[in-house]
Amino acid sequence: NLQIHLKSRPVGLPAAENFSLVSTPIAMLKDGEVLVKNLWMSVDPYMRGRMIDRDSYIAPFAIDKVLEGGAIGEVVESNNPAFVVGAKVSSMNGWRQYFTTTGEDLQVLPETGIAEQAFLGVLGMPGLTAFTGLTKIAELKPSDRVFVSAASGAVGAIVCQIAKLKGCYVAGSVGSDAKSRYLMEELGVDAVVNYKTTDDLQQDIATACPEGIDVYFENVGGAHLEAVLNLMNANGRIAVCGMIDQYNATTPQPGPANLSQIVRKKLKMQGFIVFDHWDGYPAFVEQMVQWIQQGKVSWRETVFNGIEQAPEAFIGLFEGKNTGKMLVKL
Ligand code: NDP
Repeated sequence: NLQIHLKSRPVGLPAAENFSLVSTPIAMLKDGEVLVKNLWMSVDPYMRGRMIDRDSYIAPFAIDKVLEGGAIGEVVESNNPAFVVGAKVSSMNGWRQYFTTTGEDLQVLPETGIAEQAFLGVLGMPGLTAFTGLTKIAELKPSDRVFVSAASGAVGAIVCQIAKLKGCYVAGSVGSDAKSRYLMEELGVDAVVNYKTTDDLQQDIATACPEGIDVYFENVGGAHLEAVLNLMNANGRIAVCGMIDQYNATTPQPGPANLSQIVRKKLKMQGFIVFDHWDGYPAFVEQMVQWIQQGKVSWRETVFNGIEQAPEAFIGLFEGKNTGKMLVKL
């Protein structure tokens, strides 16, 4: 049973030597327990925060212990009548090939006909993040002009599509021309900025958003936030989902120099953590399954094969190696 442990706390961009691949025995099943074989696991930017030893909304990962994260597995042995052998389950027990449990931490996947790994992306935590940020936090209206950063990622690409199907004008920023083409040609996004090749980020975002920005779905922070604050329309809303530009910073980053725009433009800026909004998950899944079946929402996956590749997949998030959801197939 191979697992990935956190060997040391990364400083700056995580590196392979921060992780170790450890072989452990599989415990004998007790009464009431099930054995789950993980099929897929998720790597997510928020895991970088858990590698830092600090107080946060979620406890830090421990050194020399198995990491945790979203996973989809299959019940391969069962001493618990609630879980039949062959059932597909989701859990937070990723970064390992097998685990035993009494089942309290498992959710049996509903029958949707949609690939199981979608429950780590469009039908899982990233999808609910996109939906919650747009509908609850930003209170999206059809007339809104929306800008999304990290727009081709797991969350961003779903934000773009939900905003388009609500009737909004949608623009985003990405780190490559291939990602830009994906958004424009496949997802119908109205305009895209490549933040890596631009000479003037604010000017390019202004060109992409000729009528200004009513809703900013913030995934990046830093220079993006400063540029967008200057381009927000009065009474705009900023849903602060993440600030990936800062996750590997080793020194405090300078704040936007123009926060007074929040006052002048009467902006609402609100951070949120999707785990606080899990009560909305059943209604979200029902809606998203419908959109997928109607062909209104699609998604991409970037897949690394084998548990030993999980650290590389995780590090790749900070290098833009994924389009859509970054996954590891075990
Ligand atoms: P993504 O699938 O978007 O992967 C990360 C992407 O971010 C990369 O592909 C890369 O794309 C981009 N990126 C990486 N580094 C930088 C940088 N320095 N500046 C700009 N872009 C960068 O990840 P997720 O969709 O899972 O997460 C997106 C954001 O949402 C993150 O900030 C994450 O922390 C946040 N999040 C927040 C949640 C919450 O509850 N608040 C829940 C889930 C996610 P590119 O090639 O375009 O640079």
